[in-house]
Amino acid sequence: MTLETSIEYVKGIGPERAKLIKNVLGISTVEDFLNFFPIRYLDKNKVYKISQLKQNNLDVQLKGKITQVQEIQTGKTKRLSAKFNDDTGTMDLVWFQYSKWMKEQLPINREIYIFGKVNLFNNQFSMPHPEIEIEEKKESDNRLRPIYPSSEKLTKRGLNQKFFQGILRNICKEIPNLIQENLPEYIMKSFKFLSRQNTYLNIHFPKNMEYFEKADHRLKFEESFFFQLGYGLKKLHHKTQSFGNPFPIVGDYFTGFYKNHLPFELTNAQKRVLKEIRQDMKKPVQMNRLLQGDVGSGKTMVALLTMLIAMDNGFQSCMMAPTEILAQQHYNGIKDLLKGTEVNVRLLTGSTKVSERKVIHEELENGTLSILVGTHAVLEDKVRFKKLGLAIIDEQHRFGVAQRAKLWAKNKIPPHILIMTATPIPRTLAMSFYSDLDVSVIDEMPVGRKPIITAHRREKDRVFVYNFCRDEIKKGRQVYFVYPLIEESETLDYKNLMEGFDHIVQSFSEYSVTMLHGRMKPDEKDTAMNDFASGKSEIMVATTVIEVGVNVPNASVMVIESAERFGLSQLHQLRGRVGRGAEQSYCILMTSDKLSTESRTRIKTMTETNDGFKISEVDMQLRGPGDILGTQQSGVVDFKRLDLVKDSAIIKITKKSVEKILEADPLLARPDNQIIKNYYLKYYKGKNKWSKIS
Ligand code: ADP
Ligand code: MG
Repeated sequence: MTLETSIEYVKGIGPERAKLIKNVLGISTVEDFLNFFPIRYLDKNKVYKISQLKQNNLDVQLKGKITQVQEIQTGKTKRLSAKFNDDTGTMDLVWFQYSKWMKEQLPINREIYIFGKVNLFNNQFSMPHPEIEIEEKKESDNRLRPIYPSSEKLTKRGLNQKFFQGILRNICKEIPNLIQENLPEYIMKSFKFLSRQNTYLNIHFPKNMEYFEKADHRLKFEESFFFQLGYGLKKLHHKTQSFGNPFPIVGDYFTGFYKNHLPFELTNAQKRVLKEIRQDMKKPVQMNRLLQGDVGSGKTMVALLTMLIAMDNGFQSCMMAPTEILAQQHYNGIKDLLKGTEVNVRLLTGSTKVSERKVIHEELENGTLSILVGTHAVLEDKVRFKKLGLAIIDEQHRFGVAQRAKLWAKNKIPPHILIMTATPIPRTLAMSFYSDLDVSVIDEMPVGRKPIITAHRREKDRVFVYNFCRDEIKKGRQVYFVYPLIEESETLDYKNLMEGFDHIVQSFSEYSVTMLHGRMKPDEKDTAMNDFASGKSEIMVATTVIEVGVNVPNASVMVIESAERFGLSQLHQLRGRVGRGAEQSYCILMTSDKLSTESRTRIKTMTETNDGFKISEVDMQLRGPGDILGTQQSGVVDFKRLDLVKDSAIIKITKKSVEKILEADPLLARPDNQIIKNYYLKYYKGKNKWSKIS
């Protein structure tokens, strides 16, 4: 038997069953079977009483006697039914498929153990297709019996737990010939791991729970280790193979601005991140860095300072945002900060006038334009730079990889790339998913910012909420009301929005109320935005179109209607629209009275913290990593045993350990690392498309 042996040749399987197993479980080799892990273990010493059964669908073991067997005919189908008693009650055992031989073999009035999943129907438990054991238990047996993921289809055809246990017992006997170590001695020692052979033995037939934990831990470590190794090698490859323009100089543009124009002291986090970026750009290797920072953490300043470094080195920069509003805002912000300097900045969007466009094209090509801020319009072929050295992309999740690649192509030597995102993602996810990017995190807010106060209110509180808003408006502030708008229920949602708008107009008749939603024409949107931004109107009723980029520092209250319908990250983004000025800001989450457990957790999380990273952790626990990244990318986090939520400690440890190994031996050339390299080449190489190791 080898790992590649087809399961049809494993004792007890044969061609027919092999086919069935392959179809249902996708297992075709001995190796697949070894990696077919139990979903849990049944303690063989644990024997339930019928009277103790509470839960449907639970695998249990019972001890008792079969007292009666009968065949029952309903329509065309026949089933075999047996009464099973223990001293606490009676239940039915049922077979929908059985042979005459089996019927005759059923042990009647003998002490037996039965084992299977119980079925609760009409307050009555039964057990379909139980497994029956007649022999007495020996105490010395492994107590823990593996329960494998199976299906009714298999159980009906006799491929039950007993079958799988038997097959795996046969295969496990061969483990000494099948399983080879894949971690070097120095790792084994430092983590006190079980050997790989012992790991496989104990994952299928654990000696005890402690050994199971050890085996489980090692399998998770392995999975994380080789995954990280793949990315580590890829990153190394990128660093040694892909050219970039070195920016060794920090010159007058940067220092002049820093000394004379910086309107505030940078936070420590901003300083640290800037240092990381500078270190990267010094090297003749393209930077590929993700800058994560919560809304309001001051990413724009970091971006600007980075662009000034590019200028000091004689290069142009461009900064891209996903929407016109956002691009405009970046442009305004940067232009504002650069007042009194001679830096030439321009804005290019879909609605830039032809005359201005011409100037932009010219200045880009002759090199007199240093910073271009814009939307997708920047990617057009007509836009050619003289020397593009840096591209900054805001809100990365809205741009695809293909678009990024287009930016790269704008220069012979690709520009350094800095991706900024205000959607914090959990660290473990960042570590695995973005492991081909370097990640910088601004995890500190500028001082003096007052944390937003968030409250949960219900329909019965509406009058109070409105009065509160009125009081804030009287103090000179402005208020947002946000309504959900979801594609599947768009028509109804618009109706709610319009009704809400009418209601608010009536309730706040002394004030001016504007509305902003996606069905409005661009110029209507502009008018609404401008009215609110200029303070002409005190209240804005909107859909989530305001989620990205709207910046009105005087707005201090955000009321989110039907807040239970929003996801956590969306709530967090929305809330980020207030708290931008010096005043105390408030976020009021309006919900209906009845909430699901999950909605309640979301609302509670929002009222308890303003920390985007904490919120993203909860979000991942609720929705799972795949949903956070979006379906397209969920395959990236498709681990067999590793759980990105629960195993963050393991992920951290493996990451460190991989970094250490690659730092000391980047080509995995050391004799003691051959074991890792060989395993990696065999199992992981194709997976993350890294092929340069040889
Ligand atoms: P982000 O893009 O990360 O959401 P911004 O760059 O728009 O945040 O910054 C939010 C606000 O905080 C801006 O008004 C900016 O001028 C201000 N700001 C940024 N850094 C600091 C700082 N170190 N100290 C005080 N205010 C800051
Ligand atoms: Mg920003």
